[in-house]
Amino acid sequence: MTAQAPLFNRLALIGVGLIGSSIARAARAQGAVREIVATARSPATRRRVAELGLANQVVEDNGAAAAGADLVIACVPVGVCGEVAKEIAPHLKRDAIVSDVGSVKAAIVRDMAPHLPAGVHFVPAHPVAGTEHSGPDAGFAELFVGRWCILTPPQGTEPAAVDRLAAFWRLLGANVETMAPDHHDLVLAITSHLPHLIAYTIVGTADELAEVTRSEVLKFSAGGFRDFTRIAASDPTMWRDVFLANKDAVLEMLGTFNEDLAQLTRAIRRGDGEALFKHFKRTRAIRRGIVEIGQDSPAPDFGRGHPGLPAAPLPRPYAASDD
Ligand code: NAP
Repeated sequence: MTAQAPLFNRLALIGVGLIGSSIARAARAQGAVREIVATARSPATRRRVAELGLANQVVEDNGAAAAGADLVIACVPVGVCGEVAKEIAPHLKRDAIVSDVGSVKAAIVRDMAPHLPAGVHFVPAHPVAGTEHSGPDAGFAELFVGRWCILTPPQGTEPAAVDRLAAFWRLLGANVETMAPDHHDLVLAITSHLPHLIAYTIVGTADELAEVTRSEVLKFSAGGFRDFTRIAASDPTMWRDVFLANKDAVLEMLGTFNEDLAQLTRAIRRGDGEALFKHFKRTRAIRRGIVEIGQDSPAPDFGRGHPGLPAAPLPRPYAASDD
């Protein structure tokens, strides 16, 4: 017996990878929806979704999944969201809520909104929770517990639709915040996108040195580098799309980052220990502040997210990487 009546009758999941399958599992566990219809691009994924019993029905195309659904969530890479909106548009029921989970929001609004017919409610969302794993086997029902889900409704969206989607995410365990798409993209550029870019860079650089250092890189990877390799193992398609779609905000943050890096480089070159110490002292205080306000654990590898982002209060089967 579920604690309350389902919030939605039929949920359609377009794409059932890490995020889509976690939504399916969590929605089931919480009785958030009466039934789930799912689809994915490849027959292999659709077959796996059926085997795992993640949905009541697994259908072959995006339009068939969206037909008759009260809530449609596109859980696909950011770069294909526009195409998905175009495909589902003719099949959408009046008053349906259309949402997504993309890690970038302004591009999603730009690409999806023009295709959606009048009479449906468009409420883009970004659950700030994830791991470096992909596919329907990677998801788990607790992924969103204690994490943020950021809603970015375009101006003029009916508040009742925003409230309904917020209630859905809260039932899945998330904390919900609403912000403008551009603001979301700027915040995530520094808290998530830039850290991923740095991880991709460092792991790539270390690999270039591998001829000389392979054994040392592996042997000593417990210190810092290991964390970067985990983040740098994140899905290549997803992250390619994130950087293409959030180009301006990432470039802006990268500019500031490069200036700060140049300052530290100069301090090292000049042997300016005082400048280095002052900088490290400031960043240590920032870290301690994050732990003090309950946004992370002091223990390594434990419910950890990115710097500045909320982390889960409970241990998880996977180390979280957000996105
Ligand atoms: P994923 O595990 O790679 O799953 C992507 C799913 O999308 C797969 O089921 C894939 O099907 C399907 N797909 C791709 N193109 C499609 C299309 N044109 N039509 C229908 N289905 C299609 O990816 P994910 O990690 O769940 O990420 C999905 C979204 O969540 C991305 O927008 C990402 O930015 C966002 N997000 C990710 C994280 C994270 O940490 N991973 C966190 C928060 C938000 P096939 O398997 O058949 O290719």
